[in-house]
Amino acid sequence: MSAEQPTPAATSPVRLRTTLAGVPAYTPGRPAEPVEGMTAYKISSNENPYPPLPSVLEAVADAARSMNRYPDMGVTGLTAALADRLGVPVEHLATGTGSVAVLAQLLAITCEPGDEVVYAWRSFEAYPIVVALAGATSVQVPLDDGFRHDLDAMAAAITDRTRLVLVCSPNNPTGPAVGEDELRAFLAWVPSDVLVVLDEAYLEFTTEDTVPDALALYREHPNVCVLRTFSKAYGLAGLRVGYAVAHQEVATALRKAATPFGVTDLAQRAAIASLDAYDELELRVKELVAERERVLAGLREQGWDVPDAQGNFVWLPLGEDAVAFAQHCQADGLTVRPFAGDGVRCTVAEPEASDRLLEAAGRWRAGRLS
Ligand SMILES: *Cc1c(COP(=O)(O)O)cnc(C)c1O
Repeated sequence: MSAEQPTPAATSPVRLRTTLAGVPAYTPGRPAEPVEGMTAYKISSNENPYPPLPSVLEAVADAARSMNRYPDMGVTGLTAALADRLGVPVEHLATGTGSVAVLAQLLAITCEPGDEVVYAWRSFEAYPIVVALAGATSVQVPLDDGFRHDLDAMAAAITDRTRLVLVCSPNNPTGPAVGEDELRAFLAWVPSDVLVVLDEAYLEFTTEDTVPDALALYREHPNVCVLRTFSKAYGLAGLRVGYAVAHQEVATALRKAATPFGVTDLAQRAAIASLDAYDELELRVKELVAERERVLAGLREQGWDVPDAQGNFVWLPLGEDAVAFAQHCQADGLTVRPFAGDGVRCTVAEPEASDRLLEAAGRWRAGRLS
């Protein structure tokens, strides 16, 4: 800035929405911090550690040639590919810049200020943010002793003001998925004018045979919406594309609430190429699942009380020690994600990062027990 520029005023008198005071700030996973003589690993954001497939890179490079143009606002190609893949009508699909954006659209179409949104806690940290931004009220229902959704308690928390219920399965950050039977019983209980969103960001990593068939539930219940993303198993976190499957009225409203031209052509083309290459991507998912099982078994052998892990991450219920444990890992070049006073989420990524995590976790326990 040149010396003649006036200094901006220190404060602005602009009136902002009072609801903003109640909006928590999103804490992003920090970049990996270098430690002398060590490869640093960021295992704090549940990203896919594999680089993009050559076929996906090629689609993106090709799309880059026309980035002077707006993307296809209707996201037609990707929507058609998804409709075909999932066996749903195109009218039942809505896309957004990541499923977090679709989630914000879901709030925008269901909630007036003061309406209630029921979800489990602890769960995805974006939930309280999008709810508060919409001026709606969060009704957080504690997880049970196994760090699972307590669907009975969630059913009991539904009132006349409830407009939306969020079910995160597998649950970020704790790991377990809800069971099909309990979810069916829950859906039978929820009033039909309350939208139930099944957030399946980690669906592809699940291995338990009780994991619900969310698309079957959406077909049976006009108030069920399935939320999915290309950020995790598909490895496109940086391109921002996610989608919802919902009945026509809901999907139409979601498209109205979307940022115009939000999903870039790069993202659309990369997502289509990734659907085409899913066989290759699935091999990577299987590697990550095998790695998850290895980490889980190793941690349990050390005596950690780790809940079931159905995503690409494990949860260490460290309580008050969460932040100290994260610092302990940082010294080993591992950036994990602490939730102060609660626990630490560690993404399953490169085998070398898992080895180092097991080593750090083992030393931590040895230090505590001696
Ligand atoms: C990562 C994640 C998402 C997806 O986020 P994007 O905006 O699609 O990158 C959605 N829900 C949960 C629970 C997640 O952990």
